[in-house]
Amino acid sequence: MPLGLVVIMLGRTRRRVRCPCCNRVVKRYEDCYGRLVRHLDLSGFECYLYFEEYKLHCRCGYRGMEDVGFVGAYRHCTRAYEEYVARLCCFMSVKEAALITGLDWKTVKDIDKAHIRSSLKGLAEEQPVRIGVDEVAYQKGHKYLTVVRDVDEGRVLWVGVDRKKETLDAFFHELGAEKCRQVQVAVMDMWDPYIASIRQHTGADIVFDKFHVAKKVNEALDSVRRREFKDADKDVKAEFKHKRYLVLRRNENLSPEKRETLDSLLEKNETLQEAYLLKEQLLDILDEKGEMIAIQRLETWKNNVVQSGIQEYEKVMKTIENYLYGIHNYFKHKLTNAASEGFNNKIGLIKRRAYGYRDIEYFMLKIIKLCGL
Ligand SMILES: [Zn+2]
Repeated sequence: MPLGLVVIMLGRTRRRVRCPCCNRVVKRYEDCYGRLVRHLDLSGFECYLYFEEYKLHCRCGYRGMEDVGFVGAYRHCTRAYEEYVARLCCFMSVKEAALITGLDWKTVKDIDKAHIRSSLKGLAEEQPVRIGVDEVAYQKGHKYLTVVRDVDEGRVLWVGVDRKKETLDAFFHELGAEKCRQVQVAVMDMWDPYIASIRQHTGADIVFDKFHVAKKVNEALDSVRRREFKDADKDVKAEFKHKRYLVLRRNENLSPEKRETLDSLLEKNETLQEAYLLKEQLLDILDEKGEMIAIQRLETWKNNVVQSGIQEYEKVMKTIENYLYGIHNYFKHKLTNAASEGFNNKIGLIKRRAYGYRDIEYFMLKIIKLCGL
């Protein structure tokens, strides 16, 4: 809590003021208004500045308030104070910043929004060569944003509403045809609207991140587990459900004891054991360093899947076949969204701070502010 209030009365040292429009000195003013604005706290006291502001009528045609510099038009806080509030919002939620400053949370949000908006540079000075395209879910996965990152610089360039082809088209239009031609690689999920947009606007190699492929095979493995134990008795079912993480985690990351537990689990079911080995094989191939060896091993893997006859894997294999070019490009470029792990954490943080973000514009601005600028 503040110790009290301090109001500082500002006096004018010069009577002459300049027109904010043409910079001409305006000798006469039409009117004069008193203004009280919040400023940075002074030794624990809430501090306000009081000053008089002239209404001008200039020869250039401008008719309105003078620009006093330290506070924007129609603002209730000085620029310095707004800067302070915006900085608080980088580290805490709007609610917390409102508590600290004693401002209404809507005011805090407005200040932060205006501040971020004024610092946006757009794409005029950007020249991405390798981009990452991600979707970000919000409102409990009912709605999506499209986020474009510069993979080499590891920061967000652009955010758009929805995840349609038109969404990403808008990014390329803003970037301009000349710069689109310089984009060489696009790393992303297997999402057809994005693929179509990238093909239309750039000649970039499309790379499907290995984590997206790994996710698909893990999902397949998990549904094999569920299917195989659908009719098992309760205890066995519970045991497997409880220990499913052992099956999904990479074998090399398990401790010797965990590996033993896993082996004894897998011994109980042949199909699951086979599915497990196929998963490990594929993840191993994704880590293969040699491009040609990886491509060959992937072919062998596909044969193994056919032989296994496990339907969940045949589905994964079909997906891989349909998007093979992007997986081969992955072997070629070895580019992953690994850098985007930090990005995903930040998005999670932004979401938690905003309790779901009803204000979509603010959500987008925050992504650019905290992951971009
Ligand atoms: Zn003027």
